Amino acid sequence: MKIPLFKLRRPWYSYLSVIKMIFVCDKCHFLFSRASQPEQCPDCGKYAVRPANEAERREYEEHLKEFQEAEHG
Ligand SMILES: [Zn+2]
Repeated sequence: MKIPLFKLRRPWYSYLSVIKMIFVCDKCHFLFSRASQPEQCPDCGKYAVRPANEAERREYEEHLKEFQEAEHG
């Protein structure tokens, strides 16, 4: 099937696949990073995953830092 040229422009979400996004589960507050938003929470399996807000992203980064410091120490 031939695709017209104007349809070959990268869709906006293709850029998100390069950058890992941070998501949070509304049910169990599990924070995790993924290239794309999953339907189910990887921790509790509930369909309550949404993109993390600014505060939650910072919380996630803090956890990562703690984890990395623990690994090195
Ligand atoms: Zn969950």
